[in-house]
Amino acid sequence: MLPLQIQILERGWLSSNNILIEDADGYTLIDSGYHTHAAQTLALLQHTLGGKPLTRLVNTHCHSDHMGGNAAVQRVHCCRTSVPVGEAPAIAAWDDAALMLSCTGQNAERFAYDDTIAPGDRLQLGELEWQALAAPGHDPNALMFHAPEARILITGDALWENGFGLIFPELFGQSGFAAARSTLETIARLEVDTVIPGHGAPFGEIGKALATAFERLDAYERDPAKLARHALKVMLSFSLMIRGSIEEAELPGFLAGVPIYGELNRRFLHLPEAQLREYLVKDLERARALTRRDGRLFSTG
Ligand SMILES: [Zn+2]
Repeated sequence: MLPLQIQILERGWLSSNNILIEDADGYTLIDSGYHTHAAQTLALLQHTLGGKPLTRLVNTHCHSDHMGGNAAVQRVHCCRTSVPVGEAPAIAAWDDAALMLSCTGQNAERFAYDDTIAPGDRLQLGELEWQALAAPGHDPNALMFHAPEARILITGDALWENGFGLIFPELFGQSGFAAARSTLETIARLEVDTVIPGHGAPFGEIGKALATAFERLDAYERDPAKLARHALKVMLSFSLMIRGSIEEAELPGFLAGVPIYGELNRRFLHLPEAQLREYLVKDLERARALTRRDGRLFSTG
């Protein structure tokens, strides 16, 4: 499905996929995963590079699960690091709020970038020309990378086989639905046979993925509280993946200590805290994202 010079290290949900593109003089890595997985990321890289240098590191956007391994990768490989131009100020200042780290209970190791990529820029990677395209919605500054000749699109969290990343701006009182729609419309206009998403396996049925995505976007626009409920479950599930497990008795304190839970409840759901907790745990249990055992909640990964 993909040319030999493109390899995908499919990671899961806590770490984004690592995409490796080979050129004669070395490899480019797109997205570096979550920081607690850095050792695994480095081991996978070493295995895949097979002695060839890693010359460049590129991020689709700067959420913790996509750039959390950047610092560790930079320590081992002297690669040029390129971030989307819109993310550059937040990275340069390590703006915790803009990078949505402590408000979501997530973390990343600080890194510096060498240059930026803007929508419309062209990159030569793996003997293919790639065009950077704006992909706002999930993240206002996100980029996608399109290789028209090979009909491949790297989407980050703008489009997955079964959905897309949370539309964060809408959760914090800014607009994001229209941007997400325009990004999906951009994708629909491109010549694409294979999508390499930020999470999940590469896929070919782009029409089906777009139909699912538009349907979901319509539902969120009709009822933004649906997005908020989904966001809370995604956040708790992500936190559980980071920790592995948590005592049920610790959950009230944990949720109180991570601002996004209270904030989304205040804005959208207006539930008493105990009811919110019960709702989140029961729904994640039903979705098999967690299991309860002996008073502990375990992530199922
Ligand atoms: Zn993201």
